[in-house]
Amino acid sequence: MTDLESFSARLKSLTDGRASAPRVKDGIMNLVLDVGGLSAERRDAVAAAIREGGLLVPGVKDVRIAMTAERKPLRIIAVASGKGGVGKSTLSANLAVALKRLGFAVGLVDADIYGPSQARLMASEDRKPQARDKQLVPVDSPLGVPMLSMAHLVEPGKALAWRGPMAGNALSQLIDADWGDAELLVVDMPPGTGDVQLSMVQKHKPAGAVIVSTPQDLALIDATRAVSLFEQTQVPLIGLVENMAGYSCPHCGEISDPFGTGGAEAAGSAMGMPFLGRIPLAIDIRRRSDAGDPPAAGDDASGRAFLAIAEKVAAWLRA
Ligand code: ADP
Repeated sequence: MTDLESFSARLKSLTDGRASAPRVKDGIMNLVLDVGGLSAERRDAVAAAIREGGLLVPGVKDVRIAMTAERKPLRIIAVASGKGGVGKSTLSANLAVALKRLGFAVGLVDADIYGPSQARLMASEDRKPQARDKQLVPVDSPLGVPMLSMAHLVEPGKALAWRGPMAGNALSQLIDADWGDAELLVVDMPPGTGDVQLSMVQKHKPAGAVIVSTPQDLALIDATRAVSLFEQTQVPLIGLVENMAGYSCPHCGEISDPFGTGGAEAAGSAMGMPFLGRIPLAIDIRRRSDAGDPPAAGDDASGRAFLAIAEKVAAWLRA
């Protein structure tokens, strides 16, 4: 890697991808930095760090930064499944963590109003969101992904009594929160394809949807329903993830297939949907999820499986 390339890579991580590629001419490095949504302090800190780093590139005598404030519109990725228990929440949490690792400014919404689990998955159960100008301010999670869940707002089980409009309003408050400089929201949708899901999709118009299914036929029939919900509402389908595909032996790492594998991939391709990858049924995924330690933060086999899926989602977002 040249010094300019390594500076570019550092620049990207410093700015969450908000700066243009550096151009050097006659010893002057020119950069455009999109500061939309950044606080003044962060803006100054980022500019100072860039200037310092740029001056270390051989041949560069001066660094000029032009600032623009083109705040990127918040893009929503809906993670959906036709029924509960297939790993939709697990995938949402790990997708958010992995997309952050890939340089996206990402937030996470737990829209599973009746069975919120993101606060536990992301170890943020003890945090309470504040409200500012009638807008909720997301809580931070240990891995630096801002997030909101019903679990942060009401006692467990209380939202169970909420029906249609009330659940829809609560959901909108989570999505319309003050997401600061986030450019992407991963939304863990409620399982199923009822009114709450339909009105969320119509109102908030996700940029794309990821469908999760297990390899079994029954789950796939449900997944097909989730697919048609997004098709009807003209939300692009990013692709399908096959979860609990094969059993990963905790002792030898070998993968066996008690329930079969490849079913979701085949069904996805029959529906003309890209296949984003498969996650094995692995005890460490369940244990780490329960402990609020998402595997996507690491580089072991489970972490890599989530990262590979996130890379495909990132490529879709950048395309
Ligand atoms: P959903 O959101 O679809 O209801 P969850 O993500 O809550 O599903 O997952 C249901 C249960 O299965 C959780 O206990 C979770 O830890 C576990 N789980 C999900 N995916 C895997 C996996 N690939 N391997 C092992 N356990 C998993």
